[in-house]
Amino acid sequence: MIKNCALHGVFRGTECNCGEAGILILDDEQTERLGRFISGALRHFPDDLGLAMNQHGWVDVDVLCDAMRTRYKWSNKDKLFSMIESDEKGRYEINGRKIRARYGHSVDVDLDYPETELPELYYGASREEVDILLEKGIRPIKQRYVHLSTSVEKALEVARIHTDDPVLICISAEEAKKDGVKLLTANDNIVLSDEIFPQYLSLVEDGINQDDIDQDIKEKDSIN
Ligand SMILES: [Zn+2]
Repeated sequence: MIKNCALHGVFRGTECNCGEAGILILDDEQTERLGRFISGALRHFPDDLGLAMNQHGWVDVDVLCDAMRTRYKWSNKDKLFSMIESDEKGRYEINGRKIRARYGHSVDVDLDYPETELPELYYGASREEVDILLEKGIRPIKQRYVHLSTSVEKALEVARIHTDDPVLICISAEEAKKDGVKLLTANDNIVLSDEIFPQYLSLVEDGINQDDIDQDIKEKDSIN
């Protein structure tokens, strides 16, 4: 559920960090329904809802609100904003009169985010798919972009949605960028790319990069 604390603004859950119960804005069911609606509208089927989306994924907030209120009479612009503001995953962004999803698109958009400064990125895969990914690279399947994680922890968290025993792939962002591959910062946790070719990928074994292990073996060999 989403509530408002008089002192600290909107929050998700039953009470604010300060201990106040706050005032209810959206109950669990409303939060889920509105969440699914916004995701569909801004990521998957804006056309079906009559929303004009520009190439960077922006939609007019008021037009989105009208479409939302047609379906959910109990909703309004303030509730929509509470949803966006309290979203810990940073899924959406509001800029003046426009709103867009930061990631997760299946519609064809051309997102204009700054390129990542991180030297390495991560991608969690299942044991079954890891070999094929290392050989062929990572390509988007249903989505517009490949979604990479900025940390080991986040990559594992994402992968665990699909597999109990995820394997980590490290992406050399530094190398890829040198070769002109675009790596776009969607938010603190997610970087988007069209496709990651296999030469930038390496397997991470138990938190240690395979290249480092190879390097250690070489060093040991040279000592012996
Ligand atoms: Zn509070």
